[in-house]
Amino acid sequence: MTELETTRERTPEVPAWEYADAPESKDVVRLQDRYGLFIGGEFVEPKSGKYMATIDPSTEEVLAEVPEAGPEDVELAVAAARDAFASRWRDLPGKERSKYLYRIARALQERAREFAVLESMNGGKPIKESRDIDLPLAAAHFFYYAGWADKLDYAFPGRDAKPIGVAGQVIPWNFPMLMAAWKLAPALAAGNTSVLKPAETTPLTALLLAEVIQQAELPPGTINVITGAGDTGAALVAADVDKVAFTGSTEVGKQIRRTIAGSKKRLTLELGGKAANIVFEDAPLDQAVEGVVNGIFFNQGHVCCAGSRLLVQEPIFEPLLEKLKARLDTLRVGDPLDKNTDIGAINSRAQLSRIEELVEAGVEEGAEMYQPVCDLPERGFWFRPTLFTGVSQSHRIAREEIFGPVLSILTFRTPEEAVEKANNTPYGLSAGVWTEKGSRILWMAERLKAGVVWANTFNRFDPASPFGGYKESGFGREGGLHGLAPYVDLIPRDGAP
Ligand code: NDP
Repeated sequence: MTELETTRERTPEVPAWEYADAPESKDVVRLQDRYGLFIGGEFVEPKSGKYMATIDPSTEEVLAEVPEAGPEDVELAVAAARDAFASRWRDLPGKERSKYLYRIARALQERAREFAVLESMNGGKPIKESRDIDLPLAAAHFFYYAGWADKLDYAFPGRDAKPIGVAGQVIPWNFPMLMAAWKLAPALAAGNTSVLKPAETTPLTALLLAEVIQQAELPPGTINVITGAGDTGAALVAADVDKVAFTGSTEVGKQIRRTIAGSKKRLTLELGGKAANIVFEDAPLDQAVEGVVNGIFFNQGHVCCAGSRLLVQEPIFEPLLEKLKARLDTLRVGDPLDKNTDIGAINSRAQLSRIEELVEAGVEEGAEMYQPVCDLPERGFWFRPTLFTGVSQSHRIAREEIFGPVLSILTFRTPEEAVEKANNTPYGLSAGVWTEKGSRILWMAERLKAGVVWANTFNRFDPASPFGGYKESGFGREGGLHGLAPYVDLIPRDGAP
């Protein structure tokens, strides 16, 4: 005993674990001072004559100027897409279209580092996410739909799949490249052409993708990229397009629906969410904690399907909370280009204000907030990982989409109560269930009103798997065979029922 004590005395104190900086180099990215609109296979100056600055949200440094496309630019882009559709793309044999898609996929893989760094610089997300998730998945979507392009005759039994025409595609800032891939790959595979409008705050990777489209030698006008703000998106929706595909807020989704009501335009909407991540008492706790952390802190919580409401079965509330707080304390907030970073920058000042407003509301309404102590950089837009306990279903933080690193924790006693609370939302995009029991997973999945239900995992994506919502989360599916359906007219074959 005495000997042991002596040994302990001699043992040097272990210093706190410090990570050395591990910055990813920006050298791989070549920024232009000013970009053009990508119309008809060329970068052109905007007829509007207007430009806007795009910044790095982690430093507020201006990265470049991009055009603000006006109505005339939108018309030119749509005309270029229509011309490409009628003169070439629609009638190309599927196997030829698939070659182009494979080329894009391979170019994305070859230039993955360049894309990932630019995605993190312009959007604020950690490099480990853009490098390991956004870019590989974007390439995988092009590979996947390249595989469908020459198999459309077998995709919908008894029916011929014909392309619709020109798609107007409006995407958000949380997954710029991945959303571009979700929109473009199925549209092109089915023989449509596109005008893509990236979000105001994250236009740069879409413009780099336009370079890849040139590199892949797609027929001019097959894909057009027009940058701008909400007005540009609204003009595209109102333009002479045959199909509108939108991902973004429920509010704008409703406006778009009103705009195109009564027209023949086809529409898919992928909107907000307020997903429940439900942990039963028999769940493996450490695994569940990792899933909960991934569910809400991945991409700073800027995720439509984020598990922003944690429902915990009462007997494990205390131990789960303790583990969760300990895990929050280890999350590293800071430079998106540092490979150790877990939580990067909030995408914009406007989004930061929205998060702050809702978090203040949570405190005012009586919920109890926990945030780990961590230093935040002086410049840029940052928010600490945050969790709330003592949340009731009527609190704004339990009802509204925060779209930030903020988790609201509620409890339940029975599976019925979990289902009722989980479904008590205008949204219906995703849900998570954590339990050892397979039968309970199936029982829950049948009752949860969500487009995707993950079991003992969260935020898993695969190009072959459809994704989309119910209720105010929108309609239509992206991914898989389901993701092709919104881009085709299905015509019954002779003799088919
Ligand atoms: P928006 O819905 O405004 O933006 C999504 C896209 O739509 C952007 O490209 C935007 O352009 C464009 N847009 C804006 N107004 C119109 C319009 N009237 N017609 C057509 N297109 C338009 O989302 P915000 O960026 O304002 O974010 C607000 C909230 O929306 C977030 O806090 C979050 O809760 C939710 N959101 C949900 C997303 C999801 O994936 N479900 C994604 C993004 C936001 P621009 O950026 O140039 O204004």
